Amino acid sequence: MALLSVKCPHCGSVKVVKFGKHPNGAQRYACKNEECSRLVFQLYYKYHACEPGAKFRILEMAINGSGVRDISRVLHISADVVIDTLKKRKLELAGKSEIY
Ligand SMILES: [Zn+2]
Repeated sequence: MALLSVKCPHCGSVKVVKFGKHPNGAQRYACKNEECSRLVFQLYYKYHACEPGAKFRILEMAINGSGVRDISRVLHISADVVIDTLKKRKLELAGKSEIY
């Protein structure tokens, strides 16, 4: 039997319990640290677009000149998700420019 040491990715606490499974079969965990703002998390994601920080990486690669298919290939995210993320970011920026 192998033990897997699980730490909360948000606060680093080891006060973690199993919290059921995601519908796609991935194990979910709950952080029992009362000061942590993140309750439920997963260690492994089946869909890489759902990983924390995926949207930021898409935007960062786009700013540095990578194309949609390049981003899709490198991050293992579908091209449709990359395009949707870039369009949403464009709409967010357009909304902010109207305010100012
Ligand atoms: Zn935590």
